[in-house]
Amino acid sequence: MKDMTKLAHKGRDGTDAGGGANPPIQRASTILFERAEDLYGNKLPRDYATDGMVVHDSLKEAVNALEGAIQTILTPTGLAACTLPLLTFCKAGDHILLSDNIYGPTRKFAMTQLVRFGIETSFFDPRADEAITRNFRDNTRAVFFEAPGSLTMEIGNVPLMAKLAKAKGIFTLMDNTWAAGWYFKPLENHIDVSVHAATKYPGGHSDALMGFVSAKDGKIARALRKYDQASGNMVSADDAWLVLRGLRSMGVRLAQHEASALKIARWLEEQPAVQQMLHPALPSHPDHEQWQSDFTGACGLFSFVIHETNEKKVLEFLDRLKLFGLGFSWGGYESLAIHCDPQIVRPAGSWKDTGTLIRLSIGLEDPDDLIADLAQALAGIG
Ligand SMILES: *Cc1c(COP(=O)(O)O)cnc(C)c1O
Repeated sequence: MKDMTKLAHKGRDGTDAGGGANPPIQRASTILFERAEDLYGNKLPRDYATDGMVVHDSLKEAVNALEGAIQTILTPTGLAACTLPLLTFCKAGDHILLSDNIYGPTRKFAMTQLVRFGIETSFFDPRADEAITRNFRDNTRAVFFEAPGSLTMEIGNVPLMAKLAKAKGIFTLMDNTWAAGWYFKPLENHIDVSVHAATKYPGGHSDALMGFVSAKDGKIARALRKYDQASGNMVSADDAWLVLRGLRSMGVRLAQHEASALKIARWLEEQPAVQQMLHPALPSHPDHEQWQSDFTGACGLFSFVIHETNEKKVLEFLDRLKLFGLGFSWGGYESLAIHCDPQIVRPAGSWKDTGTLIRLSIGLEDPDDLIADLAQALAGIG
């Protein structure tokens, strides 16, 4: 079955929907047992609602199909999907490696929280490739990849780096939000745990927060599930239903996001105010070849560097945009823009630019209208 068909059909087998095409939203805490002898008997598929109701099972099954996983855990945010595997696998005395371009709040979690439990963090260049082995220590427990970086868009050779880590017995995790579980398949590329912010493309409508944590190895899946149950992690049936609904149309949305973003990126590349485009599908991207070899497409999120460094003028440029909202997150139907410099932290020194980094999330508007909006806003900068 191809991915597009999986999106339409997976997670619908065996759902007790009373004839409806979709699973029901069951609000529940208590699960009732018919007989006292079953209370501690482990016979029912669920004995408390934290085991998930029908809609949770449906969503997990659909994501498993997409990721090639045997188990997916739903988390209340994408950030919680990033922290859950670290908390599952790391203990006091361990060292973890984070990609220098890792999602900022994941970095913050490691630096402010894991450190309290005696877990040390260091950072590697996302394009280290073979040289990543220099960062491995005897106590390195996990390495966390992200490609492309969600601001600066670097794409290293993740399959190679993950293979080298696995050869050392190190757990490999990847934040796969940009590829949406669609354009790159971490679990087929030496990654033990694929996480992504379902808040972005799976949800797709800027109305729900959620994360996915997927694994295909039985032992790893069981360890994640054990932590999941022990920690009280859960999402509501309403949110699971919304994200499953979003997932059904993700394939066609992504195709439109991809086409519009490419059209806009190609136009931007011709503009004098633009110093450098950072869209992996453009031949000018420094990691274009790596992207071609590992990814089957590109989403609607890309960045570009403008010559302008006067902050006031940069802010005025953003304020002139009418169709682009100013705000964090991405992957929704509506276009968004931010300037990135205030949130770029690169301990391994992997990012240097001489202008100002702007990031766009291209939504589902007509790309010609978005180009016209960018043109009028860019007109005011040098
Ligand atoms: C947004 C995002 C997350 C976190 O998702 P939330 O649901 O907002 O917590 C994680 N990783 C990346 C790359 C993201 O862009």
